[in-house]
Amino acid sequence: MATDESRLREAFLKASEGTSITAHATFQPFKEFKTSWSKMGDSAEFKVTDYMRGAPQNVLEEFAAHLVPRVGATKSHRAKYTEDIRTYLKSDDFVSRNRPLYLARSRNLAYTMRGRHHDMRASYDRLLSSGLLPHIPNTYITWTARPNKQRLGYCSMLMRTIAISCGLDRAEIPAYVSDYVLYHEMLHMQEGLTFSGRYHTPEFLAKEALFPRAQEAEQWLHRAALLE
Ligand SMILES: [Zn+2]
Repeated sequence: MATDESRLREAFLKASEGTSITAHATFQPFKEFKTSWSKMGDSAEFKVTDYMRGAPQNVLEEFAAHLVPRVGATKSHRAKYTEDIRTYLKSDDFVSRNRPLYLARSRNLAYTMRGRHHDMRASYDRLLSSGLLPHIPNTYITWTARPNKQRLGYCSMLMRTIAISCGLDRAEIPAYVSDYVLYHEMLHMQEGLTFSGRYHTPEFLAKEALFPRAQEAEQWLHRAALLE
């Protein structure tokens, strides 16, 4: 049976056929889903996100075919992922293979929904019973380990993971404030991976504004950013 490494090499060599370069590739344990490359003469070395390790061969080949033409391209071309790549990246198989690794590589997660003062499970249940959200399956939700002031809420749609800054887990901050931040991130999760690069569309903002105390929550978030 071919190893993941040999499958990857094969995919990149195949993608090199008919181009002016020979592409070599190895997996790299980047925390984020990314691939880098360097070109030396007529060969290119790709460091490919190891989250692609378990991908089916046709997906690896299409991924290589997506990347190889970008080497030496004079202008950045915004080629889209193929349907097979998109389907794989959105699959439960991709998430279950890679999320544990992604979580282990994350440095600021508490790995629990239960905070000292507020419970994200209770937040989620309130959002559900208010009718603002349907059940959104396969979503990992956690507090951060340390307050993150730049990002009070963070969402990886690829890894189906949401982190809420524990700076909001304070007795003096009402629970609806972290509910609101979770709601925002869950709206992203509901939309899922779109590959469009557009996140806060007018439709998104219209849904966000349905949160009953959105304005007050926003005021709290400005205040929370100033708290120690
Ligand atoms: Zn957002």
